[in-house]
Amino acid sequence: MTESGLAQTGLIESGPAKPATRRLFFALWPDDATRNALNRTGKWLHQHWGGRRMRADTLHLTLVFLGDLPAAQIDALLQGIQNIPIGAFELNLDQAGHWPHNRIGWLGLSQHSQALESLVRALRDQLRTLDIPFDARPHTPHITLLRKAQGGAALECLPVNWAVDGFVLVASNPQADGAHYDVLQTWRLATQ
Ligand code: ATP
Ligand code: MG
Repeated sequence: MTESGLAQTGLIESGPAKPATRRLFFALWPDDATRNALNRTGKWLHQHWGGRRMRADTLHLTLVFLGDLPAAQIDALLQGIQNIPIGAFELNLDQAGHWPHNRIGWLGLSQHSQALESLVRALRDQLRTLDIPFDARPHTPHITLLRKAQGGAALECLPVNWAVDGFVLVASNPQADGAHYDVLQTWRLATQ
């Protein structure tokens, strides 16, 4: 069959190819011990609020959501983000909450973290310099533990202490059983 014949059957794309994109976000990515602790909290929260637990290997805290970026710009992004002037810090995740509008059950912070806010601000500043768009709405730090959860009043929970010494860029691949993530690169924060 000729190429135009194949195009008519839909077996190949006709016309100019669309640029490939990847769905990207910066995140805090837990070490194994923190991941296990977060997963235990997810189990506990599920007993209270039901819903579907997030798979342990997907647990993360989103820092900046970029959305679809042309693949051709990814190298500039990987090389452009550097010298983040934030040292390693600790997060005390001690507050479980539920958002009725999207039925997410999450773990977050009862106390504001200045270091986390500074990290998000530094990343946003560098993305602006690189001219790479991102979701600029106010950042609400949380780790999604449950989807489609019934929810209830905010619950105090056993705190998870997370020693944060880096962050990652992640590509999200939507799939039938929920998004799968690929960590594309890790950046370390200075430790004393
Ligand atoms: P799915 O959407 O397939 O249920 P997901 O939400 O885990 O799975 P993505 O939608 O790719 O996967 O989102 C990746 C991460 O970015 C998640 O932590 C999600 O909460 C966050 N996120 C998604 N969209 C936005 C947005 N517009 N602004 C801020 N964060 C976002
Ligand atoms: Mg989503």
